[in-house]
Amino acid sequence: MSAEADPVYDVVIVGAGSGGYACALRAAQLGLTVALIERDKLGGTCLHRGCIPTKALLHAAEVADVARDGARFGVQSSVSGIDMPAVLSYQQSVVSRLYKGLQGLVKSAKIDMIHGDARIASPTTVSVGDRIVTGRNLVVATGSASRTIPGVTIGGRILSSDEALRAESVPASAIVLGGGVIGVEFASAWRSLGAQVTVLEALPRLVAAEDPAISKQLTRAFTRRGITVRTDTRVTGVTQDDASVTVEIEGGDSLTADVLLVAVGRGPVTDGLGLAEVGVVTDRGYVPTDERLRTNLPTVYAVGDVVPGLQLAHRGFAHGIFVAEQIAGLTPTPISDRSIPRVTYCDPEIASVGLTEAQARESDENVSTYEYSLGGNGKSQILGTQGFVKLVKSSTGQVVGVHMIGARMGEQVGEAQLIVGWEGTPEDVAPLIHAHPTQNEALGEAHLALAGKPLHAHA
Ligand code: NAD
Repeated sequence: MSAEADPVYDVVIVGAGSGGYACALRAAQLGLTVALIERDKLGGTCLHRGCIPTKALLHAAEVADVARDGARFGVQSSVSGIDMPAVLSYQQSVVSRLYKGLQGLVKSAKIDMIHGDARIASPTTVSVGDRIVTGRNLVVATGSASRTIPGVTIGGRILSSDEALRAESVPASAIVLGGGVIGVEFASAWRSLGAQVTVLEALPRLVAAEDPAISKQLTRAFTRRGITVRTDTRVTGVTQDDASVTVEIEGGDSLTADVLLVAVGRGPVTDGLGLAEVGVVTDRGYVPTDERLRTNLPTVYAVGDVVPGLQLAHRGFAHGIFVAEQIAGLTPTPISDRSIPRVTYCDPEIASVGLTEAQARESDENVSTYEYSLGGNGKSQILGTQGFVKLVKSSTGQVVGVHMIGARMGEQVGEAQLIVGWEGTPEDVAPLIHAHPTQNEALGEAHLALAGKPLHAHA
């Protein structure tokens, strides 16, 4: 198509990941004309290299654990081997089905999908090759990519999560650099699939963004599972040869393994996008916005991982929907990172929403907390999992944080989010009946206890 033939779109979105495609779908629903530009695949990191394939890998890992642990439940079963190509094909079949469904959604919404490398050319135009796409509004939704540390280049036995997801065999031994979300998810999956795993974390604890009680329980569970956890551990250098990779640790120690996974965070993808040239303010590559997700230019918005804050697909979806509604002239409620639920899919699973105890104490001297042990929860005992639900209550009575750990506890985050989001008190939640026997009861019981009427817990 020639430049003259192109329409002026209401919205031109750069990046078709979670934030970008959600924005496109909502904008189209609202009657806006939309161009969605993507250089790789519709669905982005979440669908093709992130959430979905990782969770499929983690599910295969869980199946291995269940088979290995069968005898504990009186079932004679064992793991005779892991067929990694078959795991990858199962993983790919899940991704492919979702990809097909998403392509169908975008097509039927009459969104113009443009394939190519986009560059912002002016506050209302984007160039893609020699084509100029014009929009009354532009949305930057270019996401994030794995980072590494100085002196360590991804390649060979040094993997980012992208390569780790595609590995055609389970490493016999692995070092995981970084005990954040990606680090603990891969450590968990590889251990279940039979690898010897060591996690190295520079900070004093794993999953440092979570409440310290969660980090402590995770370290205990990982150690029991045979995962070596080394915190306060800084890596000073990495070398590799045909047979192994060696990591030098500050203080003179070194470790050798088959592979090294670098999971030290993800950075924004904005290099070469032309933002600075058209006057969009950036901060170390991120695109700061106001609470309505506007950049400093009135026609340019940003959504998802490029906006400083939590890097989560569901935050991207929410941002995308918000911006579409904002452009359509509605008045959507701003999205606060505080009310966004977080789930880490390692075993045991971690789920949380709202403030940690320490964060709550920063502005409130009279915070109270309650920890309900899954030891008192029938369904968790049936599953054979350990963990807890920790509630953080403000001095004015609202539950401002919920922190959970234990097998499958991610599924409990929905109710936790409603409680924190609706500023519920334990007394509001106590009369709500939680089905028995479910793990959901643990959340109900924690609120009963904090309301002063514990059931399956000591007062
Ligand atoms: P992260 O920020 O969660 O963790 C990185 C960890 O690496 C930190 O704990 C940091 O202290 C540590 N680290 C950094 N440099 C180090 C060094 N030199 N030596 C040792 N440790 C070092 O980042 P991530 O785990 O890479 O994940 C990236 C982003 O993707 C996060 O924002 C995460 O929330 C998101 N993500 C979310 C999910 C999920 O929601 N389940 C899954 C995957 C990724």
